[in-house]
Amino acid sequence: MFNHDLILGILGGGQLEKMSAMSAAELGIKVIIYTDEQDAPASQVAYKTINGALDDLEALEQFAQHVDIITYEFENMPLESIKHLQKFKPVLPDERLLEISQHRIREKTFLNDLGIKTTNWHPVSRVEDVEKLFKETNQSAFIIKTNRFGYDGKGQVKVKIDQDFKKEFGSLKTTDLIAEEIVDFMAEISVIVARDKTGRLVNYPPVVNEHKNHILHKTIAPAEMPPEILGKAIEAAYKVANEIDLIGVLSVEYFVTAEGEVLANEIAPRPHNSGHWTIDACDFSQFDQHVRAVCALDVIPPYQHSKAEMINLIGDDVKECDKYLRQEKTHLHLYGKKEIRPGRKMGHVTILK
Ligand code: AMP
Repeated sequence: MFNHDLILGILGGGQLEKMSAMSAAELGIKVIIYTDEQDAPASQVAYKTINGALDDLEALEQFAQHVDIITYEFENMPLESIKHLQKFKPVLPDERLLEISQHRIREKTFLNDLGIKTTNWHPVSRVEDVEKLFKETNQSAFIIKTNRFGYDGKGQVKVKIDQDFKKEFGSLKTTDLIAEEIVDFMAEISVIVARDKTGRLVNYPPVVNEHKNHILHKTIAPAEMPPEILGKAIEAAYKVANEIDLIGVLSVEYFVTAEGEVLANEIAPRPHNSGHWTIDACDFSQFDQHVRAVCALDVIPPYQHSKAEMINLIGDDVKECDKYLRQEKTHLHLYGKKEIRPGRKMGHVTILK
């Protein structure tokens, strides 16, 4: 029996949490947001907001007392905080997913152990390690990434064999690094899956993602690609979800090479920017499925009723919103962030085709 008085606690107060809170509200589920941000986007639609630092165990405990179930849509949530919260209320998805996705080497090891291909990678910590790699491999360039806290191209630099890369390397400010071989990809795609407590697993059609300055610019749904390529991507995402006994939503991003190889790049342990189109082009969105799964309800095989293109409004792009408001078949979503900053995700539009 569905508990009509359910209160869902969400860690984080950004646009993902805002869209999940809207899905929850549709089912009469009240959402309490826990965030370190004043005037967070999600607070505009949530039942309540509790402000506190993400590592303030006392404040987190208070938050746990007010909710029935807790979820997170922010992968940099300290693991210690999640472990602490679990003493009081269920936290979904399981912390193992968070632990894996918070560290690139752990993530790639997990994927490779499941038989899922990635680009070749090497742990590095010093400039000398990269110089050694140039001698030992036939690569003329690598992307060096911080293992933790990297997103939207932050915490990564490209280094070339014939270059003095000490300065770039130093800018990463940590020795916990990974060197990735550069993939000459034909396209980037991603798959979103949702799994509930009964183990029922559903997926959205794979989509093509185009990036600008390492930030997602456009998603085209569905991806028009040979079925065997799409099949490999879906199969790998299913393997990940089943392996960690997912309850919730996750996304896997891939590179597709000209030879038809599908290489996993990243796991997001939550609804993903490349799934925002599902709000307007599907019967159930990724946020609906996430709320359903963590609240012990069934996930539903989604039906895409329209082809769609999603465009992120980054920084000043948001000033074009009047144009989109007048455009047919165009759904404008603004996140309610006051300050426009370069590289900041201010909103998105979904254009139905
Ligand atoms: P990431 O933070 O790993 O998602 O990287 C952000 C973007 O940088 C990706 O979406 C790609 O466009 C590019 N990128 C990252 N890693 C690689 C790689 N190993 N080879 C080629 N391009 C990459």
